[in-house]
Amino acid sequence: MSDLLSVEVARGRVLAAVPAPLPAETVPVVAARGRVLAADVVAATDLPPWDNSAMDGYAVRSADVAAATAELPVRLAVRGEAAAGRAPDVAVDAGGAVRIATGAPLPSGADAVVQVEMTTPLDAAGAAGARGRDAAGPPPAAVLVHAAIGPGANVRRLGEDLRAGAVVLRAGRAVGPAEVALVAGAGVPVVAVHRRPRVAVISTGDELRAPGADLGPAGIPDSNGPSLVALAAAAGADARHLGIAPDDLATMTQLLRAAAASADLVVVSGGVSVGPYDVVKPAFEAVGTVDLWRVAVQPGKPFAFGVAPRPAGSDASGPVLLLGLPGNPVSTFVTFELFVRPAIRLLAGRPADDLLRPADRAVLEEPVTKAPGRRAYLRVSARRDGPAGPPLRDAEGRVRVDLAGGQGSHVLSSLAAADALAIVPESVDALPAGAPVELWWLDHP
Ligand code: AMP
Ligand code: MG
Repeated sequence: MSDLLSVEVARGRVLAAVPAPLPAETVPVVAARGRVLAADVVAATDLPPWDNSAMDGYAVRSADVAAATAELPVRLAVRGEAAAGRAPDVAVDAGGAVRIATGAPLPSGADAVVQVEMTTPLDAAGAAGARGRDAAGPPPAAVLVHAAIGPGANVRRLGEDLRAGAVVLRAGRAVGPAEVALVAGAGVPVVAVHRRPRVAVISTGDELRAPGADLGPAGIPDSNGPSLVALAAAAGADARHLGIAPDDLATMTQLLRAAAASADLVVVSGGVSVGPYDVVKPAFEAVGTVDLWRVAVQPGKPFAFGVAPRPAGSDASGPVLLLGLPGNPVSTFVTFELFVRPAIRLLAGRPADDLLRPADRAVLEEPVTKAPGRRAYLRVSARRDGPAGPPLRDAEGRVRVDLAGGQGSHVLSSLAAADALAIVPESVDALPAGAPVELWWLDHP
């Protein structure tokens, strides 16, 4: 057992081969989702840029309506109208009001907005219209205000959200829809983000056929190619499948060379054992260097890691990473999670403390067994409150999990049934029902 590398040591060696994230490029804010900021984002405007109304209603001087009640409303003369997108051309004076739309700049003289529901319109002859929501048509001649409001009521202040010149997002921050909204709202049209890692995927094995192709007597669909492309894309990469390499060194080397010429990271599945047909190690040696490790993980274990020189003219500083994952489909999936996903995130500019999935806490609902000396990543599904409901937790807040099915490293049905991986430490061979475990939630489609 002593020649097995721990998951942490193996991952540390992979990550150590990435000297710096990929270079920055400038992209429109709408294209930044899924990227990581390479520079701080500084607000170009105050937000709101000017005091404005939070309601449809009337801009007033709050002192004028301080005594207003439902029984004794205050009457104000309507001086005009303030609309969104136009600078107000009328001010609010004592005894006056300006009809105002949500988002319209507050006219000078006003310090509050009374919402339309608290008013009754009066026409030039003093006849009352329907109280409440009537912000259509020409403004009335006057309004009755039925409630007192304080200074600042229903007013959004200039800069209360963002101040021009202030940093609104730091470099290293991943951009999701909310960050896109914030950057655009800060008046910033483009941002510097790290280039997306380019990932090339190669499947190896004489038995592999493209999904849907005739399997003949000894073929099996290539699930790892599509699976690795999906995993890499979900991890933030531009991923493509270069195809299926037969167990032939010359062809494998040729494909690997093409991959290393165009990608930041090459993932190969299968062929990393030391059988006579396992060509990944010599192919890695032909284009770069290789270390073959046995990692204390289940499923997983054999893992090839190498680096190849960057092609001339490359924009990136570190070498091309070559990762050879064991071919069993669940071993491929789990070792991708453990080693490839963190490397993609590091290349993409994520900070060192944002490479791994955050661990949750779970409790096993059934006993499990595993290989001694290796850390097991079990496919589990959480008990839920309804089919798509939130996971159920025990009194200590731990998610209640069941095995998602068979745990053989070739079993894909249980992988698709799982919504998380439960982590059982190296030190135990079995755990009883009720045992606490760490949990990694998997990406939800
Ligand atoms: P290997 O790592 O090449 O020894 O393969 C181990 C097992 O995984 C064998 O049963 C292979 O048929 C299977 N396997 C390897 N590559 C793939 C793949 N791309 N898709 C599905 N199964 C695979
Ligand atoms: Mg093979």
